[in-house]
Amino acid sequence: MDCIFCKIIAGEIPCSKVYEDSLFIAFLDIKPVHKGHVLIVPKKHFVNVFDTPDLEAEAIYKVARTLSEAVVKATGCDGINLVQNNNAAAGQEVFHSHMHVIPRFDGDKLRFASIHKEYDSFDEMGVMAEKIKESL
Ligand code: AMP
Repeated sequence: MDCIFCKIIAGEIPCSKVYEDSLFIAFLDIKPVHKGHVLIVPKKHFVNVFDTPDLEAEAIYKVARTLSEAVVKATGCDGINLVQNNNAAAGQEVFHSHMHVIPRFDGDKLRFASIHKEYDSFDEMGVMAEKIKESL
C-alpha cells in the first residue's frame, strides 16, 4: 500500500520520533503549525476515525494527554489543540489515521474556524440534537 505513514512506521522513510508504544508512534509534523507540532499515528493502517477499532480509539486520548504535557514542557507553549481531520472535506491529506498535537501561544491569532453559523432558534437546535441522538 502506498501510504507515507506506513512507510515511516516500517522505517523506510525517516521521521523525528518522539514516542512509541505497542499501538502508536508519534513524530514531528514536517510542516508544523508551530515547531513542536506532533502527530500520533496508530501502527496499524486505519483511514481515520470512522474505521479505527475501539482498542486504538480508546487508547489514543491517554497518549495525547502524555504528549500534550511533554509538548508544553518542551516548547513553553500556553495551550494545545488536539485535532483530527477525517475525510477530505475536513482537510485530511494523509489517509492513515492520526491525531495532531499542536502547541499554541497566547496571541498567536490562529483560529480553527473564523466563521460560525447560528441556529435560527432553540427549536432548530433541538431538532438537530434529536437527529444526532437517533443516529447513535
Ligand atoms: P492531515 O491534513 O490531518 O491529513 O495532516 C497530514 C499531516 O501530515 C500534515 O500536517 C503534513 O505536514 C504531515 N506530513 C506529511 N508527510 C509527512 C512526513 N513525511 N513526516 C511528517 N509529517 C508529515
